[in-house]
Amino acid sequence: MDPDVPAPSPRPAAAGPRYLREVAARATPRADRRRTRIVATVGPASDSPATLAAMAEAGMDVARVPLAHGSIGEALERVRRIRTAAPTAAILADLPGPKIRTSAFAEGGVLFEAGAEVLLLPGSTCPESTATRIGVGLDEIVAGLAEGDQVALGDGGVSLRVVGRSGDGARAEVESPGRLQGRPGVTVPTSRIQLATPTTDDLSRLEALVREGIDLVAVSFVRSAADMLAVRAALGGSSTMLCAKIETPEAIADLDAILGVSDSVMVARGDLGVRVPLEDVPHHQKRIIRSGVRFGRPVITATQMLESMLAAPVPTRAEVTDVANAVLDGSSAVMLSGETAVGRDPVRAVATMARIVARTELDFDYVSWGAGLGVQEIAGSPSSPPRITAAITGAGWRAALEQDAAAIIACTRSGETARMISRFRPSMPIVAATPSLHTARQLALSWGVDALLVRESASTDDIVWFAVQETVAAGYAKAGDVVVVLAGSPNEPEPVTDTLRIVRVT
Ligand code: PEP
Repeated sequence: MDPDVPAPSPRPAAAGPRYLREVAARATPRADRRRTRIVATVGPASDSPATLAAMAEAGMDVARVPLAHGSIGEALERVRRIRTAAPTAAILADLPGPKIRTSAFAEGGVLFEAGAEVLLLPGSTCPESTATRIGVGLDEIVAGLAEGDQVALGDGGVSLRVVGRSGDGARAEVESPGRLQGRPGVTVPTSRIQLATPTTDDLSRLEALVREGIDLVAVSFVRSAADMLAVRAALGGSSTMLCAKIETPEAIADLDAILGVSDSVMVARGDLGVRVPLEDVPHHQKRIIRSGVRFGRPVITATQMLESMLAAPVPTRAEVTDVANAVLDGSSAVMLSGETAVGRDPVRAVATMARIVARTELDFDYVSWGAGLGVQEIAGSPSSPPRITAAITGAGWRAALEQDAAAIIACTRSGETARMISRFRPSMPIVAATPSLHTARQLALSWGVDALLVRESASTDDIVWFAVQETVAAGYAKAGDVVVVLAGSPNEPEPVTDTLRIVRVT
């Protein structure tokens, strides 16, 4: 049986100024054009070319390759497999950062009952975790544990309380029961450990990732803008996009500065939920999404979205609602983690997510979202330099609504113009006309953006002309339609999008 996603209901009237409401009534979005992107994590369950191709067909826009397990050589092999089997998907390589993991549990894992006692040991002396002994990846962690400390394992599903020491180890009692498998992460009180991001291991992998043409790199456990700048410096001028994973209280506190120097962000709810009060997570999610969109940065909402599909063919009602709410909050993308990496049916998980997203978008209030961006948000943040691009995209959004445009065409080399118009969540397609394949792939993460490859042009007139031609050829507009075009001059030393044209297709 397919998941119980309800049938579409009539769209409610949009809020906002009256004339915008009337325009919105005409611009009803189509269910077959999903705007919110899907990121799917690739792992042992989804490694085969046939599964990867089927996941792309089912709706995977971005493939995430975690680097926490296995060697960089194995990760690059995986990247090449994805490129061949799913060539349109962007690839996001996820640097593990200073994440401490347990030694591996045997196949099938171990179920820990509440009240059971386990011994936490340095990983160097305990290479395999069992029901009574758990190895911890970094020896100093176990040495620093004291009675009363809480230790979370995995994404906080299992938690232990330290009750005393025993030789090199720490004795702990299971407070929150559950199953542990693979090599779950270990979270200890921050006073016990301060590890820097990026790690030397993270940085040493970047060169190989850039050489492989990776589209995006995610940085784990970011605490400040300086952490992102350190990774940027190590990229050495490459146009690889950087995604800041927001999963520490320090990153929440420094969010705007981090957004100012990042290309995208992830609401990494798993690790965030073991570092801030769990009940705060939905509120952080909303703020991170809103701020990310304000800066024109794609925002990925991640973790446990369809968790029960690790084993079940159908998600819970709560999971369906969580995905829908993440879309309504304004996420650019929603992410599948274990569901596709180690779950029983990765293709079904992607297809299910695509259906929930498509259905939710029928009720997304496009006009109110765009109209709700304040003047400051439209102009862009003072710390984000392309303020002219920000302003012209605001004008483009309004013109597209007023003209009932068939499409908004963003002529873009870096992808920035398309990302800035995407902030407004327009109901018509955003066509990114770009001469760069790398940019076209990166835009797979941007809400509502369809990339079209166009030839290089030497003047603004040519850029606009060829972009419109390609847009019509691709079926986004036909004779008689109006399209709104955003473009710049290719000859400026600092290219900026400063031209808005309203074109009637002939
Ligand atoms: C998270 O913690 O939510 C997350 C996405 O990070 P990872 O999957 O690397 O633990």
